[in-house]
Amino acid sequence: MSTDTTRRIAIVTGASRGIGKAIALRLAKDGRHVVLVARSEGPLNDLKAQIEAAGGAASVLACDISDAAGFAKAIEGVAEKHGRIDVLVNNAGITKDGLALRMSDEDWDLVLDTNLKSAFVAIRAAARAMMKGRFGRIVNISSTSGVAGNAGQANYAAAKSGLLGLTKTIAKELGGKGITCNAIAPGFIETDMTANLPAEVKEGVTKLMAIKRLGTPEDIAAAVAYVTSDEAGFLTGQTLVVDGGMLMA
Ligand code: NDP
Repeated sequence: MSTDTTRRIAIVTGASRGIGKAIALRLAKDGRHVVLVARSEGPLNDLKAQIEAAGGAASVLACDISDAAGFAKAIEGVAEKHGRIDVLVNNAGITKDGLALRMSDEDWDLVLDTNLKSAFVAIRAAARAMMKGRFGRIVNISSTSGVAGNAGQANYAAAKSGLLGLTKTIAKELGGKGITCNAIAPGFIETDMTANLPAEVKEGVTKLMAIKRLGTPEDIAAAVAYVTSDEAGFLTGQTLVVDGGMLMA
């Protein structure tokens, strides 16, 4: 059992960089013990040190979330170690873009396993601990591609859209146990994932947005902080589109 009984336990996947790192820093600042999940252990150890230096609490869980059995075991290990799980942020994700007619089965399966199945596996494993505590906040990081579709992203959009159906279903199944489940759909956020997009693409999307700039990881972290807060107990089954007003254009 953990000695840290005062802080809520929050698992954040994809915490080694980008949006997940910003979410982890924000939740730690808000007093959560953050369990940092990704494959690369080095950046997670650095982040843990950064959080602890600022007076926060964190632990490192290096694993590949596309390995369903291994990931489920890892989540169960968190519940055993800390005695509970309060918050789960399914953020880790990858892209393997290409036109649907040329997309390989391998690229389809890898994106679906990493971006969608992993969320189901994590929810199934974490929900048991949440039900025991009659409290839970689950957030699935979807995408505007999952809401509206996006040419060149059949696998990614299908996975991100699937997360929206998963979110509503889990909200209905677990709402009576004090567990909420919501999705956040970011628009264009400046991270490694979007770093290689041509400048004219970035300028084009910025023109479509009401707020004339790309998003930052901290913009998404702020939304996650609210949706996972204790006071957000009446908000469930929703998709919060955090895109600077792009989709409404
Ligand atoms: P990054 O590529 O910057 O980071 C992805 C994170 O996921 C890394 O921490 C990576 O860690 C982790 N990850 C990837 N695959 C695995 C795996 N198999 N097992 C464990 N961890 C894994 O992405 P962003 O921060 O930009 O995106 C975060 C989420 O937000 C994703 O789900 C993405 O789809 C979504 N999103 C992003 C948008 C954007 O504009 N950036 C827009 C809309 C949605 P490691 O490599 O160490 O395993």
